Amino acid sequence: MKTVTHWIAGKPFGGAAGASGTGGAAGASGTWGPVTDPATGEVTTRVAMGGADEVAAAVAAAKDAYAGWRTSSLAQRTAILFRYRELLDARRDDLAALITAEQGKVHADALGEVARGLEIVELACGLGAALKGETSTEVSSLVDVVSVRQPLGVIVGISPFNFPAMIGMWMFPMAIACGNTFVHKPSSKAPSASMLLAELAAEAGVPDGVLNIVHGDEVAVNALLDHPDVAAVSFVGSTPVARHVYRRAAATGKRVQALGGAKNHMVVLPDADLDAAAEAAVTAAYGSAGQRCMAVSVVVAVGAAGDALVPRIVERAGRVRIGPGDDPASEMGPLVTRAHRDDVADYVAGAAAQGADVVLDGRDFTVEGLENGHWMGISLLDRVRTDSDAYRNEIFGPVLCVVRAESYAEAVRIVNDSPFGNASSIFTRDGGAARRFQLEVETGMVGVNVPMPVPVGYHSFGGWKDSAFGDHRMYGGEAVHFYTRGKVITSRWPEQAEAAAG
Ligand code: NAD
Repeated sequence: MKTVTHWIAGKPFGGAAGASGTGGAAGASGTWGPVTDPATGEVTTRVAMGGADEVAAAVAAAKDAYAGWRTSSLAQRTAILFRYRELLDARRDDLAALITAEQGKVHADALGEVARGLEIVELACGLGAALKGETSTEVSSLVDVVSVRQPLGVIVGISPFNFPAMIGMWMFPMAIACGNTFVHKPSSKAPSASMLLAELAAEAGVPDGVLNIVHGDEVAVNALLDHPDVAAVSFVGSTPVARHVYRRAAATGKRVQALGGAKNHMVVLPDADLDAAAEAAVTAAYGSAGQRCMAVSVVVAVGAAGDALVPRIVERAGRVRIGPGDDPASEMGPLVTRAHRDDVADYVAGAAAQGADVVLDGRDFTVEGLENGHWMGISLLDRVRTDSDAYRNEIFGPVLCVVRAESYAEAVRIVNDSPFGNASSIFTRDGGAARRFQLEVETGMVGVNVPMPVPVGYHSFGGWKDSAFGDHRMYGGEAVHFYTRGKVITSRWPEQAEAAAG
């Protein structure tokens, strides 16, 4: 069985690597966690679960490295990031294979994840322009004012299982490019991609201690949130944990951004290109087995759109090939764990009793020869009531709910009544309706004839309401603001002395 240890001060730490002196018995908290291949259901890897000792060691390493890193030149940091970009580019396939082996998504999808992460590394390569300060000369007689942004110190990043590489890459390249040092706590369900990311960072020249990894669960997370030497916390995960992280880290004065769960609505007006809308709904609802925070989980079909759209979705969904992520023919893989698969199946089981038409039921799906995998076929629930469990909760699986609305106004009201506000989209040929939707809808990201409006790296990513706590979004210019703090210098110098003026 493979073993994954922590990564502290530029090398493996704890467990079998023995760097912490635990001699291969276990992580310092004394436990290992299982990592399962979702396609086979087999435990393939054990991951060290960190506790207070590992957190203390990682934060101390990051704090030690900070003094040298923050004073390194922008040119040095940028050169390292360019080398990192090249190494990552060369290892796309390896990263994708690690993602597939532990998260389950198909290889093409995993490659897409790596590509989106690389976008942020590329953004970090060009950070010099974004870090430029502002200057006002002669605001008063002989007085100049300069605004600069400086790093914060030790940053913690906590990421979810569903993008084992990309979400760490949303965080640490920008954080370290700004001059901070970093401790990453990836999901213990899919820890290996983050280790390769750290190894490649070291190979690129990122100094020891600038990027550290502690694996584990809430024990490690809470120790990080409480640590007095941590300046800021970037979190991505489910809403209840995001809320907890936001409150607990803020209680000790840390800067926090905590992105939570989602229930993304796709509004389809009757004038839309319904073939295109059905195609978009299927790829956005069932891609990655629905385990995306940007997945479409609700279609709001307006007026006559519903009766025309549902059969089109059924037809297109029937052509999705489900199988192991390392089979190039597969378009959708399994769910991450058996327990999660069973939770998703329970929503489908309870849907009819709460008024939905179960048009497609994926609960009995399996793959021959891989019966222990965490399989779930495609499910489609029509005429879903907005007070039902399947509508109100984030299911995070291959289950698409269709809600019927009489009018555009009712559709927008439904979207805006949801406590989640991550993303939404509208499908229509009416530019006026699309424009109105952009202005009226209460979500942080909006698509017009685009089902999953994931912003490119130089914009920024984040939801509203229960989908994000804290007022900074991920990446783009907002990351520079989150990972730095402002300083304004007002100076007065007398006229140049005569002697010096020569
Ligand atoms: P999760 O909230 O269970 O875990 C996220 C991280 O928090 C992990 O590192 C985990 O170890 C840690 N954690 C879990 N329980 C904790 C607790 N009680 N106390 C402290 N830390 C804890 O999320 P997940 O299941 O790994 O990921 C799926 C969720 O993430 C979904 O809700 C999805 O919508 C969300 N997500 C959101 C975005 C976004 O950008 N808004 C992106 C990806 C995923």
